[in-house]
Formats: sequence, structure tokens, C-alpha cells
Amino acid sequence: MLQKIFAVCFLIMVSMFNQFCINNDSSGKNDFDIVILNGRVIDPESDLDAVRNIGIRGDSVELITTREINGRTSIDARGLVVAPGFIDMHQHGQDHENYSYKVMDGVTTALELEMGTADVDAWYREREGRALINHGVSVGHVPLRMRIMNDPGGFAPVADAVYKPASDEEIGLLKEGLETGLNRGALGVGFGLMYTPAASRWEILEMFRVASKYKAPCIVHIRYGGQKEPGSCITALEEVISASAISGAPLHVVHITSLGFSLTPEMLQMISEARANGLDATVECYPYTATQTTIESAVYDEGWQESFGITFKDLQWAETGERLTSETFAAYRKSGGMVIAHSIPEDVVKSTIADPIVIIASDGMLSGGKGHPRGTGTFARVLGKYVREEKLLSLPEGLRKITLMPAQRIEGIAPMMKNKGRISEGIDADITIFNPELIIDQATYEGPAKYSKGIEYVLVNGVVVVNKGQLQEGIFPGKGVRGVSIDGTTPQF
Ligand SMILES: [Zn+2]
Repeated sequence: MLQKIFAVCFLIMVSMFNQFCINNDSSGKNDFDIVILNGRVIDPESDLDAVRNIGIRGDSVELITTREINGRTSIDARGLVVAPGFIDMHQHGQDHENYSYKVMDGVTTALELEMGTADVDAWYREREGRALINHGVSVGHVPLRMRIMNDPGGFAPVADAVYKPASDEEIGLLKEGLETGLNRGALGVGFGLMYTPAASRWEILEMFRVASKYKAPCIVHIRYGGQKEPGSCITALEEVISASAISGAPLHVVHITSLGFSLTPEMLQMISEARANGLDATVECYPYTATQTTIESAVYDEGWQESFGITFKDLQWAETGERLTSETFAAYRKSGGMVIAHSIPEDVVKSTIADPIVIIASDGMLSGGKGHPRGTGTFARVLGKYVREEKLLSLPEGLRKITLMPAQRIEGIAPMMKNKGRISEGIDADITIFNPELIIDQATYEGPAKYSKGIEYVLVNGVVVVNKGQLQEGIFPGKGVRGVSIDGTTPQF
């Protein structure tokens, strides 16, 4: 009897010793905080597309292997795709409501680059320790113009910043404001030229010259949309291509389909040709056939039908979902509010998404559950509708447009982006794990506040923020993504 007990004890000790060895392998390879097992790992940088195990320690990916590994937490990714966390270069909504919808759409880094901010330090301070996902901002020409000209507008200007040409002194103040922002780690210079029509070509060129000094990308909503000359999308694109060529500043053109409409292919041709001639130019689109903006804005001034190639019935009132007539248009233009314009042909959306130079970005902003579905469904829509259902792109090609390409656009000014948008050993543990058979957007024009389907797990800096499809509350692992200053050093924040 005693012998038997002794033998059992011995066996238990041996097994405990083995266990100890597995978890405390002298190579350190088997003691991870988190392991992701048996997932289809897709890395758009190395073209890896194979079943692997991933070991994460702290906030980094430490090992990618076919060997068995163990960790304190293990995620079974069998049948799922393990991708770099998605990066959204164009996200206006930068609060907890928006971050929650972003992460449920697979996004781990959301950047406000088009409008930007006038106060870079304050912007990052407001989010420090309180953000679900990584975030970053540009210094914005529009908010600086609003501050300098005392424009009382909110997101967009409404008074002098729209209608008043800048004096030489004001152009000097704008340049100083850009320099301050770039020295504090802004990720580029944002422009909304359609919102500041009184800003002269020379004023804009002066801003590009400052950006060039810092090798900062100029992220631009161009001056005009549509085909009506003078003032077509082609003229507007020529202005910024020319400013980029003259100054040497990198150029990024936002939401091209909602400015080009049926002329988008011509605009893409212009950007491709400029790139072939050595210009550092990139472009993005969102995967929807409708735009959204305020009906009382200059966008709907006389001539909109001719410019955009649409009429009243193509407009939908966001609040009620009704289509407009000439009478209701006139009434709503007086009262003001959000209008959706079904103005982008579906074949233009498709050919733009499929173009290898085009990055996908959402232009998202949700406020109290209201907004355009692009703010909540862009990424799952690309992977579900355009990759799986319509086969416009392969899955690795689709992922490249929402991970590696946006990271590469920003990493010149923010080297920390070299650790994002990829999955390889040593990179940040920002990871999105999804079911490729189920992933799809659920948000609609009538109901935008709906989480996408099929996002099973999301890690932000090594912290699980979506677990088995459920958003985890009360954790804020998101970090600020900041650029480097002119002498190549990262400023002390
Ligand atoms: Zn815009």
C-alpha cells in the first residue's frame, strides 16, 4: 500500500516537474502572457499566409511558430484569420462611443488626419489613459484658421475662416501654428479646402512648404467635387498635386469617390501618373455609394445637381430616411440637418476599392448613435462584401489596404507605425482575429449604430479588448501615436 502511494506521489512530482519545465523553458519560448493557437496568420508585409501559433509577451508579438506553445491565456483561433489590427487613417469621431464601434469593426488604431486639431498636446492629453484603441492626430489648417480668425464654428467653420482671405500676417500665424503642432508630434498637416474656399492657392502652398520641412504628409479634402468647370474635381486635384510637386511635401487625398463621382477613374489615373513621375502621393476611399453632410452647407449651393450628377430623389433625409423633392429640399435647407446623397455609382466604388494604390479609410463619425454607416461598418464591409461575396480582391489584398498601406503612409513621420500594420516577431501586439466566413457590416443608413459581425477577438497593445465577439468594458490600453520633430528625435511628451 505504502509503496503504491509512494509511486503515485513520484508520478505526480514528475508531472509537476515537466509542467514546470514547459512553463519555464530556459529559452523563455514557452511562458507567454497570451498565445493565439492554430489561426490562419496573414501578414501583408512578408506575404505569410499559413496556420501558425503566436506567442505574446507584454505588448509585443514575441514568437510566430508551427511548434506547440503555452501561455497564461490561450485563444483558440482554429478556422479564424489572425491579422494585424486594422488602421483607420480617417476617423473624426475620437471618443469612447466611436472607439467601441471601431474596435468591433476590427480597428486598433484610428487617426484624425483630415481636419486635425489646432492644439496637438491638448488633443493627446484628453485621451491619455482613457482610450480603448490607439489614436493620433494631424495639425489642421482648418482649426488653426478658425482659431486665428475667431470663427465660432464647431467641426467645420461658419464665418471668417470660410469667407475671408488671410492677410500676410495671418498666413504667418498659420505657419507658426503648423510648426508648433509638428514639433509636438502631429502626424501630418490636415486640409479641408472645400470648407475654406477663401484660402488662396498661395496660402495653401505656404502651408505645404512648412509640411515639407518636416516631411509631413498633407492630408487633403480637395477644393471642389464633381465635374462642373470651372471648379471641377480635376482642377482641385491639380492644385494639390502641384503644391506637392512644388514644395516636396508628401500628399494624401481623402475619400476620392465622394469628390470624383463618375470622374474618380480619371483622378486615380492622375495620381498614378504623378506617382510614376516620382511624386509621393497616396489616396483613400470608403466602401459606400452615398456621401453625408449638412444640407445647409455650401455643398448644396446653386449648381449641386449639375456638379454631382444627381437630383432631389437621390437625397435622403438622415433623420427619417425619406427621399427628398424640390419642396422638402427647400424646407430642410432652411431648417438644417444631415442629408445623405446617393451620388457615387456602385461601379466607381468597386473599381476604386480594387485599384492597388487605394487605401481604405472610413471618414467615420458617430454622435449619439447617429451618423453614416461608414463610421461603424467600413472594415467588415470591405472584407465581407467586397472580398468574400464579390471577390473584387483576395483576402490578403483586402487586408493590405487596411493594415500595411496606412501604416506605411504615416511611418515616415511616425516611425512607431513601423511596428503596426504587420504581424511578425517584435511588432506591437495589435491583432484582429475574425471569421472570414461570417465577417460583414450590419450598419445601415437608417441604423448606423450597429456592430459589425464576425470580429471574434481584438488585442490592443497585448490587451484583449474583444473576447469571443464581446466588447470588454473598462479597459483602456490605447496609446497615442505621435510623430518625430524636425531634428529626427521624438519630442518628450
Ligand atoms: Zn472630408
